[in-house]
Amino acid sequence: MDNKLITISSQLITAGQILHTLNMVPATSGNFSARLSDNKIAMTASGTHKGFLTEKDILTMDLDGHYSGEVKPSAEAGLHLQIYQNKPEINAVLHTHSRSATQTKKSEERFICLEGYELLKAFEGIETHENAMVVPIVENNQDINGLANSIEEFLHGHETIHAYIIRGHGFYTWASSIEAALRQCEALEFLLRCEST
Ligand SMILES: [Zn+2]
Repeated sequence: MDNKLITISSQLITAGQILHTLNMVPATSGNFSARLSDNKIAMTASGTHKGFLTEKDILTMDLDGHYSGEVKPSAEAGLHLQIYQNKPEINAVLHTHSRSATQTKKSEERFICLEGYELLKAFEGIETHENAMVVPIVENNQDINGLANSIEEFLHGHETIHAYIIRGHGFYTWASSIEAALRQCEALEFLLRCEST
């Protein structure tokens, strides 16, 4: 393992422990990744409990989806790659199955608009509560290519989005570092809870 991979793996392991403590990755759900270079990422393996990750549970993959290592990538790896391919400034993608994102199963909303909250400042590029942040909700689909297609329009929209929700499933958020993406995970779950009560 080179030094960058060791550092990134350690940060992904810590992210898993924190998100597990926050009950945002129940059972073996969720997956995390971080950029190693222009064309390479580190990613958590399929079927691992994110609260108990070790270095063996992290694999490397190029942006075309070729991976190396003894463990397999998550079925949702394509959604991580889609974000890295579209956003060269992004260095980390975290996917959780938080309670609030899962509860969107009970609604038919196509998006959630978070507006006027101080905690919006936890998202990269938002500097005041006088902002609105739209979080699109897409329908769940076991066909990852189909899911990626329904997400593509939001990644190219004129409005900057920092996260999307997959209905009844969970959310994805991304940032320039693992630390920032982790902050966004915690903030988004908190704000979704504020909206639903
Ligand atoms: Zn998932």
